[in-house]
Amino acid sequence: MSFVHHDAIALTNSILAEIEETGEIDDAHNRQLYALFGASFLSALNLIDRQAVKKVVCPAQRSFITIAEISAPDPNVIHAPKCPTRCFLKRPYCTCEIFSSKVVYKSEITMCEHLLAANLAERLKIIPQVQLTDEEFGEALYLLRTP
Ligand SMILES: [Zn+2]
Repeated sequence: MSFVHHDAIALTNSILAEIEETGEIDDAHNRQLYALFGASFLSALNLIDRQAVKKVVCPAQRSFITIAEISAPDPNVIHAPKCPTRCFLKRPYCTCEIFSSKVVYKSEITMCEHLLAANLAERLKIIPQVQLTDEEFGEALYLLRTP
């Protein structure tokens, strides 16, 4: 991991902490996040606006974030993909290809659009929740089913 990459992670975390504190994405945050993430930032905002980001929770206090796929030809149509994208925030992880290749393997970016969307929605406290029983949660996590 390069120093530049390390600095980008620290900067992203401080921007996200400010957003959580103020409860809004102001102009300065917009500019900083666009400079850091480019089109991925816009995609993340689009995912949030389209309610594609949901937090799946259970009584045992476990959770993950699920991201519905927005179909390319018509961005107004949201459908649950067969194998939905899953994000985990505490130890940042996403099941998408970009996360494996560009975040973990090449360290080109600090997070994919899904993790950025999940972080923003969680910190702005605008993330819809899907409540499951512990058993359903385990099955959803294990089978990567859409709840
Ligand atoms: Zn991802």
